[in-house]
Amino acid sequence: MANKRDYYDVLGVPRTATKEEIKKAYRRLARQYHPDVSTEDGADEKFKEISEAYEVLSDETKRTAYDRFGHAGVRGAGAGFDPFAGFGTMSDFFEEFFGGFGGASRRRRRGPRRGADLRYDLTIDFEEAVFGTEKEIELVRPEICPDCNGTGAEPGTHPETCPECRGTGEVRRVQQSILGQYVNVTTCPRCNGEGEIVATPCRTCYGQKQVQQQRTLKVKIPAGIRSEQQIRYTGEGAPGSYGGPPGNLYVFINVRRHPLFERRDDDILLDLEINVAQAALGDEVIIPTVYGEEKLKIPPGTQSGTVFRVRGRGVPHRNGHGAGDQLVITQVKVPTELTARQRELFEEMAGTLGKEVIPQREKGFLHELREALGDMFGRP
Ligand SMILES: [Zn+2]
Ligand SMILES: [Zn+2]
Repeated sequence: MANKRDYYDVLGVPRTATKEEIKKAYRRLARQYHPDVSTEDGADEKFKEISEAYEVLSDETKRTAYDRFGHAGVRGAGAGFDPFAGFGTMSDFFEEFFGGFGGASRRRRRGPRRGADLRYDLTIDFEEAVFGTEKEIELVRPEICPDCNGTGAEPGTHPETCPECRGTGEVRRVQQSILGQYVNVTTCPRCNGEGEIVATPCRTCYGQKQVQQQRTLKVKIPAGIRSEQQIRYTGEGAPGSYGGPPGNLYVFINVRRHPLFERRDDDILLDLEINVAQAALGDEVIIPTVYGEEKLKIPPGTQSGTVFRVRGRGVPHRNGHGAGDQLVITQVKVPTELTARQRELFEEMAGTLGKEVIPQREKGFLHELREALGDMFGRP
């Protein structure tokens, strides 16, 4: 090219310009003439010229060659020169030189996107949580359309480059503000940022690339799991797009309440009612555990709230070694209705306990209060 302009002139910097000055000049000009920004005629050509000059002058070796031999020294520069080479996409270019100018979306167009995670809530019985189980779950989840292989295009046809954004997935508009021009970058409305459109949508997925599929999955629930814990099934979530990996499936566990047992960590609590005779005299009782029935010795003189520990009858530890205990908490049940014979016996017993008991029917609140006060201050 005979009439090629001097690169220093193109950037408007002196031959002695520093790297920083060259970069600064380039930024200013690029901002002014970038084809997505500029509405001036010939901006495209101008931008190419600027970029070419910058490519040479920003590179130490090329600049030296250019200084010594002029354009001949850097032949090749500008031949099929792509000002965006080295910047993966337009977005990268803008990031590099405009620092996310205009609030451009950072999402890389057509970069691999991981599929969504899915959640499945599974309710299991108390014992199933204790010992672990295997369940079959049925779920409806999105999967890659089997007919178009996820392209969205009817088999035999192909998606086309979006004419609106020319495949970039983004639409840029120059706007004026009091601070000057800026570029407003939005996702292309025509292709939703995908850069391509499907002219003949697949009839199975209607161009959605995914279809809802009903699936039955086997879910292995480990022993000792508890409510609100989740089991992850890697890759069983929604499919990714543009080569991204699928998401995960999370099975959230909900454990049904048990009518008798309650869980505290790996121990299982059981409330056990005993009557006054059992409490006073002791007894041997049969208690339920999740492993079956067991004998439990109640020693004489057992009080309400006494805790008996039945070793190893709790929930298996998740690490596979051993199990928690069953804790049996006694509740001494005082009879509320007595037969005549029982009353007689209690009254007789009361006499032996060293304290006169006035039968219930003659007692009232004031009487009790007086009695309590009498106890406190010494009876007259
Ligand atoms: Zn588009
Ligand atoms: Zn399809």
